[in-house]
Amino acid sequence: MPAADERLQQLRDLLDTSPRIVVFTGAGISTESGIPDFRSPGGIWTKMQPIDFKDFLASEDMRREYWRRKFVVDPMIREAEPNIGHAAVAELVERGRVSSIITQNIDGLHQKSGVPADSIIELHGNSTYAACLDCRTRYELAPIRERIETTGEMPVCGECGGIVKSATISFGQPMPEQALLKAQTATLNCDLFLVVGSSLVVYPAAAFPEKARWNGASLAILNREATPLDPLADLVLHREIGPTLASVTGLGELRVVH
Ligand code: NAD
Ligand code: ZN
Repeated sequence: MPAADERLQQLRDLLDTSPRIVVFTGAGISTESGIPDFRSPGGIWTKMQPIDFKDFLASEDMRREYWRRKFVVDPMIREAEPNIGHAAVAELVERGRVSSIITQNIDGLHQKSGVPADSIIELHGNSTYAACLDCRTRYELAPIRERIETTGEMPVCGECGGIVKSATISFGQPMPEQALLKAQTATLNCDLFLVVGSSLVVYPAAAFPEKARWNGASLAILNREATPLDPLADLVLHREIGPTLASVTGLGELRVVH
């Protein structure tokens, strides 16, 4: 059997024999849904660079620019549909073996693929709604957009007067404590930690696969290109996510692409 097929079989075996799996996803699982990842060159993010948290807080002009960029990118995320990779992860959840999906993604596509919200830990928040930075009251995006377009006013919280921002975690913004805690617990209680589509360079998110491995779990990484944690992993597959996960979950036959 060629080495690549052997590794595919190893992943199948790990998925079949591990009772508690954590699936850790990054932007790579959503590229097949048409949302570019962060680090591949020439993508929308080079033109629409995220604004750092401290700049967002610093001035109303920056907040205006933040919302302008947000609403350029927003339709792409809102209209995206889950792909076969999300469907394969949802299938693993359905089988009852996945304790949690820890995701760095902000696109809500795991939820859209039918995974219950309480199985999903969002480390970097969710871009499909907004929230007050102080009291966390939730706000929908459409009325915010309309208000900015008609009055030019930046959104503030109706409850406490705080600044309202997309419910994502910007660079430099404190991580959500509850999500970190839940991710830590899931990581330390899994038998298999499966990374899907992450360059594993953004910390603290990338610390979770390391923790799982040091705690005795098997670590498998499925990503098109090498990651800094490859040497630590029990199994590394450098291949396309959709066809690979479809094949190992039985959702579809693998079209071998070289
Ligand atoms: P990243 O862009 O750093 O890495 C994505 C990795 O996925 C890359 O190594 C790339 O080679 C690989 N990849 C892309 N498409 C693939 C495919 N079809 N098959 C196999 N591999 C593929 O992403 P990250 O590690 O998640 O970090 C980026 C940060 O930016 C995250 O914090 C995330 O919050 C944010 N972000 C999110 C989205 C989203 O929600 N969809 C999109 C862009 C950025
Ligand atoms: Zn508030």
